[in-house]
Amino acid sequence: MKSLSISVLLLFFFHYSVAQTNPNSVQSGMPVEMLFPGGKSKALLLSYDDGRTEDRQLVKLMNKYKVIGTFHLNSNKLGTKDYLTKEEIKELYAGHEVSVHSFNHPNLTTLSKPDIVYEVIEDRKELERLVNYPVRGMAYPFGNNNQVVLDAIHGLGIEYARTVDDTYNFKIPENFLMWHPTVHQFAKAHWEPNQPEKDAKELAHFYQIITDFLQTKELAVLDIWGHSWEMGNNPAYWEETEKFIKMVANNPSIHYTTQIDLVDYINAFRNLKFSVDKKMVYNPSALPLYFNFNGKTYSVLGGKTLILSKE
Ligand SMILES: [Zn+2]
Repeated sequence: MKSLSISVLLLFFFHYSVAQTNPNSVQSGMPVEMLFPGGKSKALLLSYDDGRTEDRQLVKLMNKYKVIGTFHLNSNKLGTKDYLTKEEIKELYAGHEVSVHSFNHPNLTTLSKPDIVYEVIEDRKELERLVNYPVRGMAYPFGNNNQVVLDAIHGLGIEYARTVDDTYNFKIPENFLMWHPTVHQFAKAHWEPNQPEKDAKELAHFYQIITDFLQTKELAVLDIWGHSWEMGNNPAYWEETEKFIKMVANNPSIHYTTQIDLVDYINAFRNLKFSVDKKMVYNPSALPLYFNFNGKTYSVLGGKTLILSKE
């Protein structure tokens, strides 16, 4: 009885090991891990809301360190007191992304569906006229959203919408219309006046998150959001801004990108066509795509089919 059970066991192991060494089944079950352009494992998103005049100083700083951002604008406020003019938008944000923040910055959750549609579509239309490219991203005014808002923006050509709900992690969100950022710039430091102890704690938290991002070996997106008007005309806040930008700039392991370019890249990656045995992959997009598979890093050019294994 004992020897019978041993031989059954041996047979099972034999069968199991044959199944495991079948190269087709092994390759089919292996995960494909997305990498960012250039085969990088980290991406940096910086996004700033409202389009106030302090954006001039912020963009100058970002350009100095060659970091890229997304700027969410209320086009009906442009040209009014403390806001940028319509005429300067295109040139100021060249190389960055201009994105929807609603026409007038209302709390969208208090509006009817037609009014939400109006706020989004009018902003989109006017921004497109100003920058001369399709505007496809958004940040919710005040970060506020609910199911009515989500239902209303479906079908308006908005491909992602950022909230202000900090995750303190580096994951790519499941739902791009509920894109929760990693952290507010400086975390919650300086958010309320005269709280030096809280400010110091929040700043330390902010820098810890950046350090964690720089050190992680996993696929990671650091998504920092804020407003240039938070720095206002306080030189210390601008110095702090330069300090953190310096920390994340010029790093060969980081892919610097606008949010819509990252969304396009992820969508293109998800649309890769693998053969059943995962020995071939076709990239129907126009973007070169990078991934790890079976211990190797691959890149497949737009419109091309790549052979992953010659076994
Ligand atoms: Zn805002």
